[in-house]
Amino acid sequence: MWRGAAVRVLRGGGAGSPRTASGTAAAQLRRRLESELEDIRGAGTWKSERVIASRQGPHLRLAGGGAGEYGAAGSALGLFPRRDARASSLSLPAGILNFCANNYLGLSSHPEVIRAAVEALEKFGAGLSSVRFICGTQSIHKDLEEKIARFHQREDAILYASCFDANAGIFEALLTPEDAVLSDELNHASIIDGIRLCKANKYRYKHMDMQDLEAKLQDAQKHRLRLVATDGAFSMDGDIAPLREICQLAQKYDALVFIDECHATGFLGPNGRGTDELLGVMDKVTIINSTLGKALGGAAGGYTTGPKPLIDLLRQRSRPYLFSNSLPPAVVGCASKALDLLMESNAIAQSMAAKTQRFRSKMTAAGFSISGKDHPICPVMLGDARLAAVMAEDMLNRGIYVIGFSYPVVPKGKARIRVQISAVHSDEDIDRCVEAFTEVGRKHGALP
Ligand code: PLP
Repeated sequence: MWRGAAVRVLRGGGAGSPRTASGTAAAQLRRRLESELEDIRGAGTWKSERVIASRQGPHLRLAGGGAGEYGAAGSALGLFPRRDARASSLSLPAGILNFCANNYLGLSSHPEVIRAAVEALEKFGAGLSSVRFICGTQSIHKDLEEKIARFHQREDAILYASCFDANAGIFEALLTPEDAVLSDELNHASIIDGIRLCKANKYRYKHMDMQDLEAKLQDAQKHRLRLVATDGAFSMDGDIAPLREICQLAQKYDALVFIDECHATGFLGPNGRGTDELLGVMDKVTIINSTLGKALGGAAGGYTTGPKPLIDLLRQRSRPYLFSNSLPPAVVGCASKALDLLMESNAIAQSMAAKTQRFRSKMTAAGFSISGKDHPICPVMLGDARLAAVMAEDMLNRGIYVIGFSYPVVPKGKARIRVQISAVHSDEDIDRCVEAFTEVGRKHGALP
């Protein structure tokens, strides 16, 4: 391990020893990195990764101990039918109860989703070793794009390796220095980065503040085209963008509306189409970016859906699309099956909504303040960073896996524990979580 001395090549020699670069620059870099890492530790913002030894689900086994994979609710919803061999591990009272995945609909370990992935893997292979426009497009990619467009009731769709890529690719391809983009200040990092990459005039409006957006739109009238960009649902607060008002302003000031639906696709709105369906503005939002890596099976992948000429242009100009490998068939198989399940029925989404309601109302009755409204992201607002950290730790000691967030991820003084509800949580899981919060809250003074 580095101790500040110059680095020797193949220290310790022999197979298996780390090969380290020699020279002053490498040594300097190493010193700088170590110091930066120390700063992160010192600031208390170090992010460690818990290692999971089971599939994604309401019940997890952490590496080194714990219990099984699936909840009884999964079975009740038909998510894990009894004929599935793994269903023998249902109704697990012990182990880690997981409340921090974006597995909103519980499809990440759905047997039909997994089967679809295996079939796609066998039929279409491990991957394409190619970008889409060289020899990386298979029939399943075209089918999935068509399905996504149909799901969102848009003209066309384009796949990316992730929604981060979709956000990185769209603004630069679409907007020029003649145009303007108006972005909510709390938009996801990938939107912020995507906007940084484009040469359009940039306006940042206060979070969900329609007066500020209107003022910025007035200012932006001098530009050729205006694009308002917002998360549909904000992942730190579980709040939903006021899309009706945004669309009204967009109409008034002749602007386009772009939404990132990563925390909405598949479950918000009567048919799970997203925030635009929930708020009745499907015909007013022009562009949607979303992920296949959360509610839609949770494997990976992202997309843009919208007008056909825009999608055609992205295929020609969008750099993360043009210069990155096409989505692996197994991943395409997962997402495609997830969409089939959602287009067949909205029962899973409704079940998640009912469980969200149960958690929010029981926690509020217990005396906690939960940010947002009707969204499965349920931030338990605590204020103090240390309180959030110790309570999250104590929740895990009681077998409940939740994560505390504090500055700089959220504003100073607004530390919280974020709870995420899934369709595969049972009512008992929810109640156990509320009971644990109540005990831990009393112990640490968050509740009287
Ligand atoms: N946009 C939002 C709002 C997100 O929360 C995320 C993921 O955390 C992304 C984009 C990126 O999605 P992906 O994981 O598909 O890259």
